[in-house]
Amino acid sequence: MTVDAVITRVAELARDHAPAAVIAVGTELTSGLHADTNGPEVARELESAGLRVDLISSVPDDEHAIASALASALTRHALIVVTGGLGPTHDDVTRDAAARALDLTLQADPEIAGALRQVTSRHRESGATAQVLRQAEVLSGATVLTPKLGTAPGQVVAAGDALVVLLPGPPREMRPMLRTLLTAAERHESVRTLRTAGLTETDVQLRVQRALSGTSGIELTVLATPALVDVVLRDRGASPDGLEHAATAVRAALGTAWYGDGEVTLAEAVLRIAGAAGMTIAVAESCTGGSVAAALTDVPGASAVFLGGAVTYADDAKSSLLGVDPALLATRGAVSAPAAEAMATGVRKRLGADIAAAITGIAGPGGGSADKPVGTVWFAVASADSTTSEVRHFFGDRHGVRTRATVTALDLLRQALVRRMDPTGGGDGA
Ligand code: ATP
Repeated sequence: MTVDAVITRVAELARDHAPAAVIAVGTELTSGLHADTNGPEVARELESAGLRVDLISSVPDDEHAIASALASALTRHALIVVTGGLGPTHDDVTRDAAARALDLTLQADPEIAGALRQVTSRHRESGATAQVLRQAEVLSGATVLTPKLGTAPGQVVAAGDALVVLLPGPPREMRPMLRTLLTAAERHESVRTLRTAGLTETDVQLRVQRALSGTSGIELTVLATPALVDVVLRDRGASPDGLEHAATAVRAALGTAWYGDGEVTLAEAVLRIAGAAGMTIAVAESCTGGSVAAALTDVPGASAVFLGGAVTYADDAKSSLLGVDPALLATRGAVSAPAAEAMATGVRKRLGADIAAAITGIAGPGGGSADKPVGTVWFAVASADSTTSEVRHFFGDRHGVRTRATVTALDLLRQALVRRMDPTGGGDGA
């Protein structure tokens, strides 16, 4: 097969959403010394070309292990990309393993061998030349992918209807060869990520499944991080507009829990809505220690909307910086609805903001009591015409409580802004 024929075959497999596997070779990967970045990178590229990657595995630099992973992948994958183990050292055994799994022989490619001979003069050990020349060994019938960087060529060989691709391990050597292979595959947006806040993972899943009932060719993945849930929709052979239609139906079903697509952060969503409404924001933080302000100021251009905030950890700081009545703190406690409300109204007035959020809670591990256990966090949102507060009880360690409290504060601000923009409720389709 010529390189062009390989490129055409890969494009056909991509168009058919054929199943693909990635095998990353390296003992440094399986022993946990080095993270496999090739596997996810190759998978992303293949997926965006249309292939369906359902296996990424790592195997050590061991001929038997590589051969058996390859043989097993061949039973159900039409494209298998193996990265690593193509270099000159004793532990680079991917070529031998592929020959064993595919029952092929290895022979020296004269062109690659010639190019390698030109660089062997820099080696001092007597056996070095022979070892370096191992990189010129290609599987019988293989198509050679000439290296633009590095010395090891890539190889592509047909195994029945399947294609096996061997690529070098170093990402900068692997990448251009992978791109060459995918030249003719039509890149299309095969994934939509819709981001949500304020709903549980299960609620999100059930709403989305309801919205997708009757839709075919869309694969759903629900990914939860503390207090946030992403919905990932993948085109698995939907109609041309199928993915976009599905995304539209899912956004409607998620209602105001949906805050954006792709990589958008919750802080970006807050700033975007406040900016569109021409409103400014301030925050007063206790147990989150400034992380709400940090998330907001992480966004370029935040200064157009975010005026500032106060980290008021001690009761005295809440009184002196925000004007919270010391008597209120003494009688109701700093972790209470009136304290949160007074913090929000105080910071809003002092900074002259249109809307403000406050967070006061017990992150732990100490400081909890029977009526206010660790994880109890009060939130308030204040604007010129209303002040509301609510309590949440978070599980987890100090870090977990603070992370959830930060996300929740941002989401309460966002929900308050959404309600102001659309008092009818934002078309929550649930
Ligand atoms: P070389 O000619 O450099 O030996 P190779 O194809 O034999 O190339 P390896 O020896 O397996 O590749 O890996 C070389 C280096 O490439 C590793 O030390 C690591 O830094 C990087 N590398 C290899 N595989 C991966 C992977 N799956 N993810 C991230 N980096 C990798």
